[in-house]
Amino acid sequence: MFKKILIANRGEIALRIIWACRELGIQTVAVYSTADADSLHVKFADEDVCIGPPRNAESYLNIGAVIAAAEITDADAIHPGYGFLAESAAFAEACEACKIKFIGPSPNVIRMMGDKSRARETMLAAGVPIIPGSRGTVGDEEEAKRLAGRIGYPVIVKASAGGGGRGMRVVATPDDLTGAISAARTEAKAAFGVADVYIEKYLKTPRHIEFQILADSYGNVVSLGERECSIQRRHQKILEESPSTALTPKLRRRMAESALKVARAVGYQNAGTVEMLLDEDGHFYFMEMNTRIQVEHPVTEMVTGIDLIKEQIKIAAGESLAFRQEDIQSVGHAIECRINAEDPETFTPSPGKITTFHLPGGPGVRVDTAAHPECVIPPFYDSMIAKLVTRGNNRMEAISRMRRCLEVMVVEGIRTNIPLQRRILSDPDFIRGHLDTGFLERLLERGKEAAVAS
Ligand code: ADP
Repeated sequence: MFKKILIANRGEIALRIIWACRELGIQTVAVYSTADADSLHVKFADEDVCIGPPRNAESYLNIGAVIAAAEITDADAIHPGYGFLAESAAFAEACEACKIKFIGPSPNVIRMMGDKSRARETMLAAGVPIIPGSRGTVGDEEEAKRLAGRIGYPVIVKASAGGGGRGMRVVATPDDLTGAISAARTEAKAAFGVADVYIEKYLKTPRHIEFQILADSYGNVVSLGERECSIQRRHQKILEESPSTALTPKLRRRMAESALKVARAVGYQNAGTVEMLLDEDGHFYFMEMNTRIQVEHPVTEMVTGIDLIKEQIKIAAGESLAFRQEDIQSVGHAIECRINAEDPETFTPSPGKITTFHLPGGPGVRVDTAAHPECVIPPFYDSMIAKLVTRGNNRMEAISRMRRCLEVMVVEGIRTNIPLQRRILSDPDFIRGHLDTGFLERLLERGKEAAVAS
């Protein structure tokens, strides 16, 4: 087992990884930017190294600085968390070159899955259903028009290197295609350094359903079931749950089989997530694979009882999985609400100093956060400040638990999306489990109409 792990991240996920290391008896090293000097992950790690100024490119994305921090502290592995360098093949390669174990899959697998149009091709070859669309990236305007015509409008133009909902454009008519492609290219080039885009059929009211898998280095691959992530704003998740109300045991089995096929097709190792879209007729399609731990991993942990971060560490250390597929059971229901420092109406970020901070507790409640009273939420990073997770013996219990948690959670000094989460949790369609990726947009529209009428 590793003696010391450096955590190349910040905020709640850095703390979450520190807790897992402590339970495994592993020493920890925190890295931080000057904006995070007073952060909890720095306080709770055994050692800490400042890696630069607040800007991501100069600190949390600075491969040289992170590797240097690992070398001077003699860390034998690096956990990248999510975001930042978690899906950087170059970073995983740099770790390998410096004989530091990267806690995640191999650089080749990261690179392959990071190129979404290439990943589609690989899945097609492996016999996994993909959303109808272009083979590879799209070339010139004429080719794109022909292709979109064949697929049928609406289509979605997506960045091959995309992530975080960026570089995507929905196109309703042929007239808008050229503009959408050039806008997506520009956005992709700026965000990811690569302008390549591909086209897919735009499914109108799909559900986003993803499968958590674990794979060790001995060829054992297991599925830990699904997470329903259809509650999104601008293609970004804000509430997740497990299990999904849309799956029958049979459909769940078929989707899990496809997810395992995806992992096996690329010789995947460590924790990964296969994201799929499910249409109204029960057809499902591979969308992409995330080669890292995900924000919403706690809902899977709450229903399976498996600590995913510890499993990641054990797999990277060369241990074989301690359980087989038939040992994994999902019991009860879990929901996660992402609590963001943002205006609940306009969604503009709301950084600043938290004056009052009160967290809910009690049975079936988990809060992952690095925030605390008097802490300052810096403006440079993601606006998520906490993950509120509840588990119940059934979905309704998880919902009522979440509602009472959202009622007593207090964050003052900054604005948060807690009022929006409350609205979602009391929405009749949400309660019935009638969800699709357009759910939140409809809820927000209704809110606007109600405001105009009153
Ligand atoms: P990113 O990696 O940027 O998060 P994804 O490919 O995972 O992008 O897509 C994010 C979200 O965008 C999905 O959860 C879904 O809501 C929407 N989406 C993506 N592709 C399609 C599609 N072909 N049809 C309908 N919605 C889509």
